[in-house]
Amino acid sequence: SRIPRIVILGAGYGGIVTAIRLQKVLNYNEADVTLVNKHDYHYITTDLHMPAAGTGDPEKARVNILKLIDEFKVDFVKSTAVQIRPHEKKVILEDGTLSYDYLVVGLGGEPETFGIPGLKEHAMNIRSINSVRFIREHIEYQFAKFKREPDRKDYLTFVVGGAGFTGIEFVGELADRVPELCKEFDVDPSLVKIYNIEAAPTALPGFDPELVEYGMKVLADKGVIFKIGTAIKECTPEGVLIAGDEFIKAATVVWTGGIRGNHMLDDAGFETMRGRVKVDAHLRSPQFENIFIVGDCSIVMNPEGKPYPPTAQIATQQGECCAHNLVAAIRGNPLKEFTFVNRGVVASLGRGEAIGVVGNRKFRGWIASVLKKLVDIRYLYIIGGIPLVLRKGRF
Ligand code: FAD
Ligand code: NAD
Repeated sequence: SRIPRIVILGAGYGGIVTAIRLQKVLNYNEADVTLVNKHDYHYITTDLHMPAAGTGDPEKARVNILKLIDEFKVDFVKSTAVQIRPHEKKVILEDGTLSYDYLVVGLGGEPETFGIPGLKEHAMNIRSINSVRFIREHIEYQFAKFKREPDRKDYLTFVVGGAGFTGIEFVGELADRVPELCKEFDVDPSLVKIYNIEAAPTALPGFDPELVEYGMKVLADKGVIFKIGTAIKECTPEGVLIAGDEFIKAATVVWTGGIRGNHMLDDAGFETMRGRVKVDAHLRSPQFENIFIVGDCSIVMNPEGKPYPPTAQIATQQGECCAHNLVAAIRGNPLKEFTFVNRGVVASLGRGEAIGVVGNRKFRGWIASVLKKLVDIRYLYIIGGIPLVLRKGRF
């Protein structure tokens, strides 16, 4: 009989871990595995707040995919998928078509703008290497422009929409970067304003309130102005309109207000919630049992029936389970159920500061920031061993 074909879409956390596990476990000629990704590199999304603000090198936040996979076991195709045809068991790429017996969708999330006017057009997002290089250059350029038009205070006003983990981590870095930029461009630091605007009654809704208070104080001391319980209602090229009909003039708006699943799932007729598929216990689509969905494109419910937040941590664990289940399906063995093991949450607040919860223990300050670095190094070790830790680790 023919060798089963596995196609993996996306080499993010879920997709790359699936591919790496498959190449370890599959025997010779047991399956044809093809990994498709838009770029020839995997990006360390959890690091992107640093290159976005200019406090970290974007090169450290990406890894060449061919350094992670064994080309004798996994075919890598650098291409953009444009359509999934689940009934035909085909994927349409920008430059060709792939047929599969099993499909893994790990295409990651897209910014969720909730239909708020102007956000799609005028706000920037922290999503990819290209998007963060753009934000970094844009920020520097505002300082240069201000020197030519000193009455344009809006060049020095930075709005970050949403105080979830992405927004909080980014303003922490931006507040560290501003003094450097002020020095470089001879700008009075008191003219620079960083706003973090959050609709919910608190920053980091759902996170430990004591740590949230600590984190906000650290950031406020660095100059971040919080507007909590204040929704962004519209974004224009001149700035943002917020609840209470106040308009903040700002030449820079970064939207970190949430994510949704990849639009291709909706387009292909998958049943979704905000573009994400609620997968079965084995990480498969309830509609198509030969399609596995991992990472930000999927929803897994916790024992209380609420969705787990979409994180790199869960995506990585899903990748391991998905690979196991693909091998089991090919060998005719029973699939195993996915269970998420929460290893803790740590968020950085800029240089030497972080907050985190691991088990029942809370961490803050430098010890939390060391913990954050260890978490990042652990991931590099999982996908690329010691050599990758040495090349890309931030110590
Ligand atoms: P992603 O990692 O998003 O990757 C998707 C891949 O698919 C990419 O390689 C992309 O290029 C590719 N792709 C997309 N569209 C196409 C297409 N049409 N064709 C081909 N390829 C395509 N989570 C944590 O657990 N801990 C953290 O500390 C943490 N920090 C974060 C910090 C920031 C700044 C951000 C933005 C997120 C952070 N997250 C963190 C969340 C985490 O990054 C995501 O949950 C995780 O990246 C999701 O992984 P994924 O496998 O779904 O896909
Ligand atoms: P999020 O959905 O977690 O947070 C978005 C925030 O924006 C929310 O607090 C929401 O109330 C707010 N918001 C929504 N609409 C708004 C509006 N109109 N005006 C103002 N505020 C508005 O999104 P995120 O922060 O990008 O995180 C995405 C996922 O990635 C989460 O699961 C998160 O846990 C994970 N993540 C984890 C880390 C970490 O562990 N260190 C870091 C970054 C992201």
